[in-house]
Amino acid sequence: MQWTDLKARLLSAGSVSLLGEPADQFIARSSAGPGAGGSGAVFFAMGSHRVKLVLDPLSRIEIVHRGNGVADLCYEGTLTRGRLLEPGFHCPDQAFITVTGSCIFSCRYCTVPRLGGRRKTIEEIMGMVESVRHRVGAISITSGVLESIDEEESYVLEVVKHLRVYDLPIGVSIYPTDQTPNRLRALGVAEVKFNLEAATPELFSKMCPGLNYGLLWQVLNRSVLVFGKNRVFSNVIVGLGETDAELETCIKNLTSLGVIPVLRPLNPVADLAGTPRPSAERLKKIFAIHERALAAAGLDPRLARTMCTNCTGCDLVPGRDQ
Ligand code: SF4
Repeated sequence: MQWTDLKARLLSAGSVSLLGEPADQFIARSSAGPGAGGSGAVFFAMGSHRVKLVLDPLSRIEIVHRGNGVADLCYEGTLTRGRLLEPGFHCPDQAFITVTGSCIFSCRYCTVPRLGGRRKTIEEIMGMVESVRHRVGAISITSGVLESIDEEESYVLEVVKHLRVYDLPIGVSIYPTDQTPNRLRALGVAEVKFNLEAATPELFSKMCPGLNYGLLWQVLNRSVLVFGKNRVFSNVIVGLGETDAELETCIKNLTSLGVIPVLRPLNPVADLAGTPRPSAERLKKIFAIHERALAAAGLDPRLARTMCTNCTGCDLVPGRDQ
């Protein structure tokens, strides 16, 4: 089976049962992204390809750890040899840190507001980066909103100021103000990701009450002017109830601005628990649309230095997942 096909099927299933030798060092316990706050997840890699799967002892897919990271993926009667990757914080190769693990908003697909996490101090964040510095090539920062959007932005700017000492590319993904792109760029941030989350404004207002879809588009537009092409990203969730045509329009609108879409299969948690995950067939269809739209706009996800398009764990990424 080709990698794109296998990854689409694995992402559609979403979870894996982990067996074999103890694998604690390979388990990512995230406070962001799919599986946040859950029982953990693993990154299974084959060559330069990888996929992140949430751990679930009841999953019909198994990964058997043979020791030292060597692992077999058992899927529909076929064994595929690969390896488990050791996460930095949250993902391999990057110190990907959630600054504030709680949120005053309550997007319906997100577990962060329910996790009751706290804000990390700058000292803690520096200590975390220090501890993985020898095996990461980038720092990525995301955050919930502790008190207000403006206050969160100020705190993240403070964090970034301190992290510049590491001389690593820094990527930032937060809910923005209209000044966020310029302020982050002034601090030397390499890449930004501002998430539209939903393919249409109607779905966005249902899913993310209190947040502003129009502002996100304006900020994305400005970000490309400030950071340049191939340096601005936006997550759009696949499976919130949008049609393929709506998703295609959203993808093309983003790429025509110079933004690289990150098409994230729905992980049905929080209020959306029980919603079906997108099928592998749909993910592959959207992948083909995504690939064509990026090529038409002259965008190349292989150039990403930080965050999800560099990581590729949770999504099919054109140029990387062939
Ligand atoms: S793709 Fe993004 S959300 Fe998923 S593990 Fe990688 S960095 Fe985290």
